[in-house]
Amino acid sequence: MKKAFVIGHPIQHSRSPLIHGTWIAEHGLAASYEAIEVTPDGLPAFVTRVRGGEFVGGNVTIPHKQAVFALCDEVDPLARTIAAVNTLVVSPAGLRGFNTDYMGFLGNLDQTLPGWSNGLRRAVILGAGGAARAILVALRERGVAEIVLLNRNAEKAVALAAEIGGPVIPGGLEDYARHASETGLVVNTTSIGMHGSRFAALDLGLLPRTAIVTDIVYVPLVTPLLADASARGLLTVDGLGMLLHQAVPGFEAWFGVRPEVTPELRRTVEATL
Ligand code: NAP
Repeated sequence: MKKAFVIGHPIQHSRSPLIHGTWIAEHGLAASYEAIEVTPDGLPAFVTRVRGGEFVGGNVTIPHKQAVFALCDEVDPLARTIAAVNTLVVSPAGLRGFNTDYMGFLGNLDQTLPGWSNGLRRAVILGAGGAARAILVALRERGVAEIVLLNRNAEKAVALAAEIGGPVIPGGLEDYARHASETGLVVNTTSIGMHGSRFAALDLGLLPRTAIVTDIVYVPLVTPLLADASARGLLTVDGLGMLLHQAVPGFEAWFGVRPEVTPELRRTVEATL
């Protein structure tokens, strides 16, 4: 029996056991995937337990994505650039760390709006936290000519832009209006949108009519930002698909089967939101 896990603190809210459990059942695997509460103090002991061979690997979520990085024997170059690990794979060479938020973000847009990045000249990322790091690298790797990185704390955006490099223009959220007219993609990576919160001043009317607006917040599924964008006739992509797609590479590495993100899986998870 192959065993995998997701660790976090808190972890009860995680939808990952439902996602992986659905795939395990679908493929008839002798496998399990469980949520395990691990506090920051308990992380080194848990990693020692993983090294003992009980698990084939697992997922790592808030607040351990940075701390676990230092405990891996090998970190994938992409995860190294993003400076966070959300997926662990136990291999004969030791504990290997990956970041699949990158693939999750791209996989969601590729499946929902195929060709979305063709000719995309400017994207605006709102936020400069952990998720923004992965998305910034993803957009850079897709060859977006100009990535505007706007954060409440503009200094954090400046630091992240300098660290990641590439065609990144950092600033504060108040700089949005200056960049909006040429923007083909807006990505919200801040926690605004949860609990009904909305951006105080973000005029979506300034965007081209062909712009895409995507939110990585998925509770609620339709955030106020997405609702406003839809009302204006803009294309929108919600954040649930990112959560589903980021789970694919880990499942494949642990269990040797590449699972599909199907409409049925989406409905199953959506029903729990
Ligand atoms: P994080 O590292 O804590 O970053 C939070 C970001 O939100 C920062 O840029 C922060 O700005 C900004 N922010 C928070 N409150 C704000 C406010 N009132 N006004 C303006 N900006 C505000 O968090 P994270 O890990 O990047 O996650 C961010 C969100 O994405 C969470 O809601 C998380 O659940 C979601 N997420 C979804 C997925 C998915 O698969 N769909 C994956 C990862 C994360 P400052 O720097 O100025 O504080």
